[in-house]
Amino acid sequence: MVEFSEEEYARVCSTVAGEGCSNPTAFTDELGNTWCEDCKQRGDLVNWGATHDWQALEIHPYAIAQGPYYYQIAAAMRDDDMIWSMIGLIEMLENAQEVA
Ligand SMILES: [Zn+2]
Repeated sequence: MVEFSEEEYARVCSTVAGEGCSNPTAFTDELGNTWCEDCKQRGDLVNWGATHDWQALEIHPYAIAQGPYYYQIAAAMRDDDMIWSMIGLIEMLENAQEVA
């Protein structure tokens, strides 16, 4: 295993390659995935699922089925468009709850 300095970690991230983040410097989510600042939103999505019974989410043209497995797949393998769409949906849901 190659050791990276913090500075080197900051430049290395293979999330786009579909294998999760290779740059585990920022934080660990509820499923044990590690993320850097650049893909922290992926961990945010997982953590939101963890506190909301892994509920199914759907925002055209994307969807996550209910269950941690599907959140894991989405966070680790889907592209940024989907992740940001889901983050936007979550924020809308949160805001709707605050108003209600
Ligand atoms: Zn990353």
